Amino acid sequence: MAIIEGGAMKIQIYGAGMAGSFLYMLLKQEFGNVGMKDTRKNPDCRCAWGIAYRQAKELYKRIGIKIDDYILIKPKYAITNGLKLKNKNIAIFDRKKLLEDLWDEIEFKELDGGLKIDATGFKRAFLPKIENDRIYPTIQSIEEHDVDENIYVHARKTGYAWAFPLGDKRWHIGAGDLSDERARELIEVLRQKYGFDLKESGSVCSCKSKIRLLPPSACRPFIVNDTYGVGEVIGCVSGAGEGNVPSLRSAEILYECIVEDKLNEYESRILKEFDWIEEEHEFVNAVQSGKKLKALLKLPRVVAIESKRSVEQSVGDLFRLLRGLK
Ligand SMILES: Cc1cc2nc3c(=O)[nH]c(=O)nc-3n(C[C@H](O)[C@H](O)[C@H](O)COP(=O)(O)OP(=O)(O)OC[C@H]3O[C@@H](n4cnc5c(N)ncnc54)[C@H](O)[C@@H]3O)c2cc1C
Repeated sequence: MAIIEGGAMKIQIYGAGMAGSFLYMLLKQEFGNVGMKDTRKNPDCRCAWGIAYRQAKELYKRIGIKIDDYILIKPKYAITNGLKLKNKNIAIFDRKKLLEDLWDEIEFKELDGGLKIDATGFKRAFLPKIENDRIYPTIQSIEEHDVDENIYVHARKTGYAWAFPLGDKRWHIGAGDLSDERARELIEVLRQKYGFDLKESGSVCSCKSKIRLLPPSACRPFIVNDTYGVGEVIGCVSGAGEGNVPSLRSAEILYECIVEDKLNEYESRILKEFDWIEEEHEFVNAVQSGKKLKALLKLPRVVAIESKRSVEQSVGDLFRLLRGLK
């Protein structure tokens, strides 16, 4: 099907989060007829302050955004279960401000007909439900603490708690696990281990959310009739919970398929691009189900992936970390 008919193609995006807002800006440069609808009145601010800096810089350049304008801090170290790892590529950015600036440029309206894009994150509101979907609850808050500005993580096999510095002694503290209760337990340990004492500080705000932790191959179909999924809807979240840049990149792939009139290649291009996410999830599954040999065999590959995307680490580092996981 030729989808671009003299520029008259209509495209309706649902969900103006990371993937949807980026896709909108890319498409707007080519087509006049792009609609956007979001159920929220303001961008989601639940968190997701960490971003793979190099990749984000290149992607946002395509729509004229300088990611440096939104970077709050680039922490020197990520301290994970006591292990001090040098941060290579994680920047903490003001995601809410970035989305607010994009929303100012977006025309929120609903068009009939044409392509429908499901960019509704974990909700996957317009594509069929995923059998055996894996959606983890998260809880998070913003607090004030006087602690060295590094990233702090306390992990166990099924989830982890984090503390991200936001500058000016503000911190984003949260956790995701199989249940709220388990997430709260993780946060308690994080507080004790690294000195984030809630009694000595105040909580500025707190909220709950969810994250889909399934790789793209398990989130098919990506396409039903004229509806195409993008971002977390189709599992663009790494085994470590990194979903910001993968969502942007999936939007870029969808954009390329639209302008090249190659939507029939969308699924295969996504699967090819995110084979590293597949590998990370296989590793996490092996760890969680106690398949030690499989986890060990996957370990060097995960170290290679994450050393490029996030923090410097060796096979020995990750091995020690795994051995201590409860
Ligand atoms: C607590 C938490 C912390 C995280 N931390 C990080 C992090 O530090 N770094 C990282 O890389 N990733 C992180 N992630 C993952 C990352 O936030 C997501 O993977 C990423 O935002 C997904 O982008 P998206 O565009 O697919 O969906 P989202 O950014 O979630 O956007 C979905 C949009 O769809 C809208 N919507 C929902 N339903 C409808 C509907 N029916 N109609 C219209 N609109 C709808 C929502 O309002 C929202 O605006 C975190 C996730 C959570 C939950």
